[in-house]
Amino acid sequence: MIDLHSHTRFSDGSTTPAELICLAASAGARAVAITDHDTVDGLPEGRRAAQESGIEFVDGVEISADFQPGTMHILGYCFDPSSKELNLALEKLRVARSERNPQIASRLRALGLEVHYDEVVGLAGNEVVGRPHFARVMVTKGYVASIKEAFDRFLAKGQAAYVEKHRLSPADSIELIRKAGGVAILAHPYQMKLSDEDTEDQIKRLKDQGLDGIEAIYSRLNSVEREKYISLADRLGMLVSGGSDFHGSFKPDISLVTGLGDLQVPYEALGKIKALAALRSRPSLT
Ligand SMILES: [Zn+2]
Ligand SMILES: [Zn+2]
Repeated sequence: MIDLHSHTRFSDGSTTPAELICLAASAGARAVAITDHDTVDGLPEGRRAAQESGIEFVDGVEISADFQPGTMHILGYCFDPSSKELNLALEKLRVARSERNPQIASRLRALGLEVHYDEVVGLAGNEVVGRPHFARVMVTKGYVASIKEAFDRFLAKGQAAYVEKHRLSPADSIELIRKAGGVAILAHPYQMKLSDEDTEDQIKRLKDQGLDGIEAIYSRLNSVEREKYISLADRLGMLVSGGSDFHGSFKPDISLVTGLGDLQVPYEALGKIKALAALRSRPSLT
């Protein structure tokens, strides 16, 4: 078995890349991909550790694309991790993310609300800091009566403390991965929060923009849902991928390789991803 979706300390996982590879080895994995959010910085350490453990290592990344109503994450595989364009774009996303929350805090202070970024971080603990944490601090301090009021008056899009998110469009996310020689896969499609019909329409649009496949075999999907996405991929002539979305102790119910216990991602899925990436890197043979 293999696992093509995992996170380390380089984004929001709890383990180092080397520790993750150790876990993959003890789970008997044949291949593993590290897919940290918006960064490829953990890949060299992962690759070194995998070589020592005799596990096949797959370069990966997970990009958060601009999307409503749910979230859209695009996974990239088998790209050139030293691609300048890729690294510059990812760096820009990370800087924007790290600057956004302190900016929200300073806007609130400019509006006369004594909210400091440090206290918001303290309240968030291990969670990724977001606007709900600001809202909770504002409620605690009595500036607003409820989380809803905090959003309605200050934090929602269009309000005075709102700071725009810098995200790539789905098309740009896919293009970035493909230009670096990689294969682009839609992660956990159900998290887009669309109906089955709208999911299919959306995936068709993404396919037109260069998306190669769907992460159909995912920890939090049951076997019926996995089959549904596998047959959708078949129908659209797209690849199937799979992984646990391991985050270490930050999502303790999910194990590497086995997910919630019933995850089985066949090596064949990676074989097809690699074959497509190889074809692209040698266009004269197509
Ligand atoms: Zn994701
Ligand atoms: Zn993930």
